[in-house]
Amino acid sequence: MDAVVWTGTSLEHTQDVRVRSPGPGEVTVRIDAAGLCHSDVNALDGLIDQPVPVVLGHEACGVVIDRGPGVKVHIGQKVVLSTLRSCGACRACQAGAPTCCRDGQPAADPVFTRRGEPVEQFVRVGAFARQTVVHERQVVAVPTSVPDIVCALLGCAVLTGFGAVWSRAAVREGDAVLVVGAGGIGLAAVHAAALAGASRVLVVDRNPRKQALAHKLGATDFQLVDTAADVVEAARGLEPRGFDATFECVGRPDLLKAAIDVLAWGGRAVIVGLPAASTPLTFGMRDLFHDKALLGCRMGSVDPHEFVPKLAERYLAGELLLDPLVTAVAPLRQIGELIDDLRSGRLDRGVVDLTGGTRTLSRRDAA
Ligand SMILES: [Zn+2]
Ligand SMILES: [Zn+2]
Repeated sequence: MDAVVWTGTSLEHTQDVRVRSPGPGEVTVRIDAAGLCHSDVNALDGLIDQPVPVVLGHEACGVVIDRGPGVKVHIGQKVVLSTLRSCGACRACQAGAPTCCRDGQPAADPVFTRRGEPVEQFVRVGAFARQTVVHERQVVAVPTSVPDIVCALLGCAVLTGFGAVWSRAAVREGDAVLVVGAGGIGLAAVHAAALAGASRVLVVDRNPRKQALAHKLGATDFQLVDTAADVVEAARGLEPRGFDATFECVGRPDLLKAAIDVLAWGGRAVIVGLPAASTPLTFGMRDLFHDKALLGCRMGSVDPHEFVPKLAERYLAGELLLDPLVTAVAPLRQIGELIDDLRSGRLDRGVVDLTGGTRTLSRRDAA
């Protein structure tokens, strides 16, 4: 089948990857669209400890085409994929917090093989392939009417950005919000903050191309910054008493420290961007004294089975602006060009169209 394999030295578009049949509790999903996330590029760059060869990709949607014993999801159901292979039964899962589940079991056998050799499945999904096998808990049913390229984003960028704002930081009406870094997740956070009724949404980024889209999604202020000191200066200039919620969406400790430095009393700083595993952070313990909090956040800290259908419903009702997040769509064979676009700052979100045909890379104006 059509797939892209990262060998550790090259990204190979190939037809010789095979996918195994679904086992008990598992489904085969035909992937129709998959977003390109910074985490995929981090794996290419060696910032994530990822064995190779591997099928990357984890932000995706598709249709269930086969199922193993004991599965309730119907064949033909449109689904959004999730990296959370949660158990569904432990205390965390029962409490609606599958991001804290420690009991999810990895797939028993390799899902992918190439010329008889196993190929890894990135974060239990492996979406840059026409088909994948995942656990039933990793698919969330969504209405067919949500377009594929938007639907894919519900699996990571939109889920994470909205979850960080609505759930993890619980942004309320009237809050002042700072978003550091306007990538796909940061821009989703901007829109979530605006919809939550934030009185101010300041976006800082070093890429001037981000300004128009940030405003379209609800940012009240946009400032170009280069250093962490610039972030502090921009934030203090607008809100001398600080921000109620700040979101570091880049994954740099100096920017996270800036996001802590500009918190209001009672403010929450959320770590959304992922640095390399051993990255240290230094800040003054007393900096959190005034009831401030520093919060980790995994996949938006939400239950995708609750949250994704809610997002889909509000998108279909015309409340969520998600289409403008997608800057380019490309077939799998042109994924290298999407990656180049992401690295050079030309992409908000790039989406791979796996439905085949003669489509070629199309870019659209972000604004
Ligand atoms: Zn992602
Ligand atoms: Zn569990």
